Amino acid sequence: MTLNNNILDTPVEFLKGVGPLRGALLLKELNIQSYGDLLKHFPMRYIDTAGITNISELTHEHEYVQLRGVIFNFKEEGQSFRKRHTATLYDKTGSIELIWFQGGSYVQKNIQPNAVYNVFGKLSFFNGNANISHPEIELFNASAPVNSMQPVYSTTEKLKAKGVTNRSFAKLMQGLFEKINEQSIPEILPADVLQHYKLMPRFEAFRQIHFPASEKHKWHAERRLKWEELLLSQLKILKLKLNHHQQAGFIFPNVGAHFNEFFNNHLPFSLTNAQKRVIKEIRQDTFSGKQMNRLVQGDVGSGKTMVALMSMLLAWDNGFQSLLMAPTEILAQQHYQGIKELLAPLHIPVAILTGTVKGKERKQVLEGLAKGVIPIVIGTHALVEDTVKFQNLGLAIIDEQHRFGVTQRAKLWTKNDHPPHVLVMTATPIPRTLAMTVYGDLDVSVIDELPPGRKPIETIHRSENFRPKVMQFLKNEIEKGRQIYIVYPLIEESEKLDYESLKAGYEQVKAWFPDPKYRVAMVHGKQPLDEKERNMHRFVSGDAHILVATTVIEVGVNVPNASVMVIESSERFGLSQLHQLRGRVGRGSEKSYCILLTGFEISKESRQRMSIMTQTSDGFVIAEEDLKMRGPGDIYGTRQSGALDFKIADIIHDVEIMEETKVAAQTILNNDPMLEQPMHRALQIQIHHSRNKQVQQWNKIS
Ligand code: ADP
Ligand code: MG
Repeated sequence: MTLNNNILDTPVEFLKGVGPLRGALLLKELNIQSYGDLLKHFPMRYIDTAGITNISELTHEHEYVQLRGVIFNFKEEGQSFRKRHTATLYDKTGSIELIWFQGGSYVQKNIQPNAVYNVFGKLSFFNGNANISHPEIELFNASAPVNSMQPVYSTTEKLKAKGVTNRSFAKLMQGLFEKINEQSIPEILPADVLQHYKLMPRFEAFRQIHFPASEKHKWHAERRLKWEELLLSQLKILKLKLNHHQQAGFIFPNVGAHFNEFFNNHLPFSLTNAQKRVIKEIRQDTFSGKQMNRLVQGDVGSGKTMVALMSMLLAWDNGFQSLLMAPTEILAQQHYQGIKELLAPLHIPVAILTGTVKGKERKQVLEGLAKGVIPIVIGTHALVEDTVKFQNLGLAIIDEQHRFGVTQRAKLWTKNDHPPHVLVMTATPIPRTLAMTVYGDLDVSVIDELPPGRKPIETIHRSENFRPKVMQFLKNEIEKGRQIYIVYPLIEESEKLDYESLKAGYEQVKAWFPDPKYRVAMVHGKQPLDEKERNMHRFVSGDAHILVATTVIEVGVNVPNASVMVIESSERFGLSQLHQLRGRVGRGSEKSYCILLTGFEISKESRQRMSIMTQTSDGFVIAEEDLKMRGPGDIYGTRQSGALDFKIADIIHDVEIMEETKVAAQTILNNDPMLEQPMHRALQIQIHHSRNKQVQQWNKIS
């Protein structure tokens, strides 16, 4: 193949109006190195240069406005770091203040008195007077064509200072389009795809996104470019999945004695249909001869542990060892106790391996695993240490996986010559778009049903001044024999402070419950493990009525008799975390409550979060809302993943396009898995190219 010697690879400094200085700055500030990079610097919005508002007509309803007038009265106000420049813009109907916190003197130097300017910016009000800070200013040119969709680009203060403003980018872009043509931006999508999905041709889309002829053109251009970006991402993900599926896996042909014995005689309840379905899916995977890579999603309390247990029995019936890895010591302990009890009648040895298992005991476990006499081991990330060797690990289960680093998952593969089947269980419902991207290479099973008899949890939002009433309520619940969680936020950056507020909270709770008949335990991340265990145990065993805790209890802990969850400073938690915490109650037969305590005055967003929590207990709704409110980067540690580095597509709003591209990618790969056919060559090259550019750590799940 001849290297595509494309004009788009030309360094951006050679473009008219750029030059070495701005070229270097464009690279440093916006990572724009070549013509091609500039082309992909898409407008952040468009303004209507035809529409001008009279200053006298401005109201609080306006957000972004374009005004036209003359600029006078430059002044410098304030002291040192609060220093700012102001000026006044006059039109025939009135005047408005313009403000600069930086770079004001540069603007002042360049404004000509008596010249007419178009001024664009976001309106704010101070003491009832309108102003615009850091407006975009452009000399009004009466003979220039009016355009209802002029592009506005993101830029930086440094670039602005060198004359590359939000709107001057348009001039660069114009210069660029004088140099390129349809050959420079060849089509990469197959003709039938273009036709079937009614997509704008590639060159046209790039031109129309920068200089749309109309709103409609812009819409089509945007759709086409998003489509291309998402299709490439889906192709990458599905190819990865295809690779997994080509990986040979252990075969578990038998549903054997242990599985059946347990299922028929020792199951403490009947499985929900959803649990049965997921177990069946796992059965099929482990029978297929291919390696399983499955994500089991199920809301808190949906019974994932039982699915894990049955899968481990299946492995053992076929002579394979299993591991179950939990994110915390407490959770590993709890799984261990529960599973050991359930398996006692079957005489299946179960071991635990965590950081606290030491000395002789540890040696025994390690030996048992290496010799293959321990069929099931439960633990924390201690399980992936190099010293842990298995005789024949057939199944690795990761519980509540969002707490695990990708590298820890990857390490599981080195435990055997052949990779074990991998089951990832998560209680964090994953919004559809994330499921299609970050986890797109895993097969997904959903436990979409809770065990019968669960009573809905009543969620109540109360501000601080209701505390006495809340405490009285807690007393009444304890009188009825219930147990209570009181959770305090703990945010790493201010750990010390939070820790103090937790201790103060603990003292406060004790003060509310002075009678020694009330017993209060406390657990937090800073306690020595054995102390934490002891306190936790006091609560699990029913000895303590109240557990004051940090979010260490967020994941997995199961105390059915605990029916009230009080979350202190709820405004400091994210939605998904609140949902996880709430999931700790409502596990028994009693009516359960979740009380969200907040300060009296909270932000609009916090209020919105509280209201979502009180209105729904559907984990998927909450996850979608969380994604909308916070953006994907903060959630599930996806920021580093690279899977969401989209230039134009938007993981929240482009679900439909994502689904279309998923179908299209699937169809393309079904016909041409290696993308070798001539009409897919261009796609293959693009994928290859972007793979070299990005380190996609998230691939390492495999
Ligand atoms: P999670 O999915 O949050 O990990 P668990 O596996 O901890 O949920 O199960 C929550 C509770 O529900 C446990 O007490 C478990 O014994 C119980 N449970 C699980 N499956 C069923 C079922 N099919 N019927 C009744 N109770 C069940
Ligand atoms: Mg669980």
